[in-house]
Amino acid sequence: MEQCTFCKIEKLEDDFYMYSIHPMTKGRIQKGYVCKQCSERMYGDKWYPITGYDQKCEISNRGTVRELKENKYFNITHIQNASTSYVRLTKNGKSMRKNILPLMKRFCTEK
Ligand SMILES: [Zn+2]
Repeated sequence: MEQCTFCKIEKLEDDFYMYSIHPMTKGRIQKGYVCKQCSERMYGDKWYPITGYDQKCEISNRGTVRELKENKYFNITHIQNASTSYVRLTKNGKSMRKNILPLMKRFCTEK
């Protein structure tokens, strides 16, 4: 069993709603798990597709970006400090850093 990062509820690894991967020193990887309730509370409950990049990503009304990989959502948002968060998006194989606020302005719109 694994634990939700926020509420500590225990579930099977496959039953969580959102995942995160943090590279650690010496090539180790720390995985994070978040249940659906906590995801909606912490990351927002409305998601908008980010178009024009190689990855399949969505951005929330709270400024979190998740990537859909192998039918799972991965939180790929990097928090630099209180006012700056960013993600790395790939376009035509080229990785680029994108700040969250302009992405929200561009994609968080009701269609
Ligand atoms: Zn939770």
